Amino acid sequence: MLLTNVRPWAGSPVDLEIDGGAITALRPATSEPDAAGPDAGRIDGQGLLALPGLVNAHAHIDKTWWGKPWVPNPPARDLNERIALERTHRDRLGLPDVRSIAEQLREYVRHGTTAIRSHVDVDPGVGLRGLEAVREAETDVGADVALELIAFPQDGVLRRPGVDKLLDDAAAWGLAQYIGGLDPATIDRDPVGQLDVLFDIAERHGVGIDIHLHDRGELGAFEFELIIERTRQRGLAGKVTIAHGFGLATVDAGRQRDLIAELADSGVALTTVAPMTGNQLPVADLAEAGVPLGLGTDGVRDLWTPHGDGDMLRLAGTLAARCGWRRDDQLEAALRVAANGYFVGRPGAGLTVGARADVVLVDAETVAEAVVAAPRRELVLAGGREVVRAGRFTA
Ligand SMILES: [Zn+2]
Repeated sequence: MLLTNVRPWAGSPVDLEIDGGAITALRPATSEPDAAGPDAGRIDGQGLLALPGLVNAHAHIDKTWWGKPWVPNPPARDLNERIALERTHRDRLGLPDVRSIAEQLREYVRHGTTAIRSHVDVDPGVGLRGLEAVREAETDVGADVALELIAFPQDGVLRRPGVDKLLDDAAAWGLAQYIGGLDPATIDRDPVGQLDVLFDIAERHGVGIDIHLHDRGELGAFEFELIIERTRQRGLAGKVTIAHGFGLATVDAGRQRDLIAELADSGVALTTVAPMTGNQLPVADLAEAGVPLGLGTDGVRDLWTPHGDGDMLRLAGTLAARCGWRRDDQLEAALRVAANGYFVGRPGAGLTVGARADVVLVDAETVAEAVVAAPRRELVLAGGREVVRAGRFTA
């Protein structure tokens, strides 16, 4: 298949040759628009800007009530009350719901996201049902999205007997590629205990770890150190991610610099959701140190938040705005965070020969303009196959 006359990263027009779902050649554009006439193996890119498929590195796809009647967001005073509320209401709402999950995945694809790493709740109430529901929804989507799952103990590990066994089963049976965790100090009140359980499971089954850390200041920084220490001890470099990482965002500059160096050296990555609440990660410093950074939507339309539509291009703009970024090179850097294939096992992926043919076309002059304007996705290819045309899901 040939995708003609597109401008990768706003460069010179090229023709993209695609075979077996991958990009096999990039050549200077030769064909005039429409000169070849209608051809099943040829799509005219019309000189549009080409971006790589976007990567949602932090989703909660199992929690969504997408497509159901509006669910008012219930008030909660803190994290524990929010967790309790979700446990009370999810059964009443029929969550996790395969149809809602598939519809939300289609909405992600419609906006050009072709790879997703999602946390999926695992607890004594839902068991492993959420992981099974997401895998079932994945087969219903109709588009080839790369979906990596994290077995996520939203309700704690040590304080809920049996959760460690569920996490172990999820890893052993290949239902999840990662084991999650949550604020080991404030939720389980035993940071060393929770982390040792998680790292034991990861080491035993060869899976990764992706842990939520909201704890701020020195407590959060201490948890960073515990994670870095265990990543080194267990030989898990490149397989551990800290999500949110507010601790890093809220310590003084010297402490922050030392932690960033340790993250880079130990092979621990970070994801952010460009939070509304401040606590922005030092995105530029992380990039300079070579710490992989991903961007995610977090939950969309669930019992945690009514916000979001799964548009990673728009979210890249939000990240740039919340970092105080205005320059074109900064806006492009935000897009690179939103397209970081590291988090779905595709480091270095992009619009290059050998990469999976995940391509997003938009009508914009530059990458910076695309990030700010988030225009309609004119065409999305997932694994070389058309899945979106003129903003509509077509797969
Ligand atoms: Zn999350």
